[in-house]
Amino acid sequence: MKPSGAALVAGVAGWPISHSLSPRLMAAWIEAANIDAIYAPFAIGQAGAGEAFKALAKTGLTGLNVTLPYKVLALQSADQSSEAARIIGAANLLTFKDGKTYADNTDVAGFLTALSEGGAKPKAGPALVLGAGGAARAIVYALKLAGCPEILLSNRTEERAKALARDIAPDSKIIPWENRDDGLKEAHLVINTTALGLNSHDDLEIDWKKAPPTCFAVDIVYVPLETGFLKDASQAGLKTIDGLGMLIGQARPSFEAFYGQSANSELDVRSILEAVLRQAS
Ligand code: NAP
Repeated sequence: MKPSGAALVAGVAGWPISHSLSPRLMAAWIEAANIDAIYAPFAIGQAGAGEAFKALAKTGLTGLNVTLPYKVLALQSADQSSEAARIIGAANLLTFKDGKTYADNTDVAGFLTALSEGGAKPKAGPALVLGAGGAARAIVYALKLAGCPEILLSNRTEERAKALARDIAPDSKIIPWENRDDGLKEAHLVINTTALGLNSHDDLEIDWKKAPPTCFAVDIVYVPLETGFLKDASQAGLKTIDGLGMLIGQARPSFEAFYGQSANSELDVRSILEAVLRQAS
């Protein structure tokens, strides 16, 4: 259906935004649902971004997904927020109603969906989380929520890992960045939440020989889909989970919030996004 003047309008805001896969993903679900709706990219420059979020809330948009570098600002711009968004300290979903903004964090659900689709169970053993940025905070929150028995944190800037532990998982163990392989011994999940490996720059190196054969390597970077981190794990005989599952998993609840219905579960959106990534490479 071609959008009419009454179309439900939502989008994704960030800077830059042209690389975002979300418009392709949402467009596929909108087409499958045959609804009167639009999902647009919003490139919001750093100057005055806070005012831009407040102004967009008054335009009739149903909501926005928010990506780098605005997830913290998005939470700050909201009138109300979920407990998850407040504890994590960042929001990737804003919904607008009656002039008010509500902030949530669907990266939590997205990450747990990706694990479950990949056959990994957070309860089954310790998780080594590499990185302590915004995505790591959502992931550690998700691991706690799902009953992960032990969380090990390692980040280049150790202070940031300590702050993450203090805010979200005080019983987690901090491992110095240069000793990160020490966390592999009993790990059930090893998760790269750093930007290392993005666009094949500076792969995150791990001595996978130290990990048990039941360990899953999880990367949330999805460009390229198979990062050096995942390739090495795969060559060591370990199971791997790439970053596309989390991207799709965080978008599903957003679609529902924007358009009032579930995203089609039959549509193979992974193949659609894989084709987009192949074309871009
Ligand atoms: P962020 O808040 O900027 O955090 C970046 C993290 O990467 C920090 O832990 C940082 O360590 C680390 N890092 C950056 N360069 C490094 C280097 N050269 N050596 C070691 N560590 C380095 O970013 P974010 O929002 O957490 O996002 C991180 C990545 O996840 C991005 O690639 C993003 O695209 C991806 N992501 C994917 C999804 C998905 O749906 N699949 C969702 C969210 C994010 P320091 O603290 O030491 O700087």
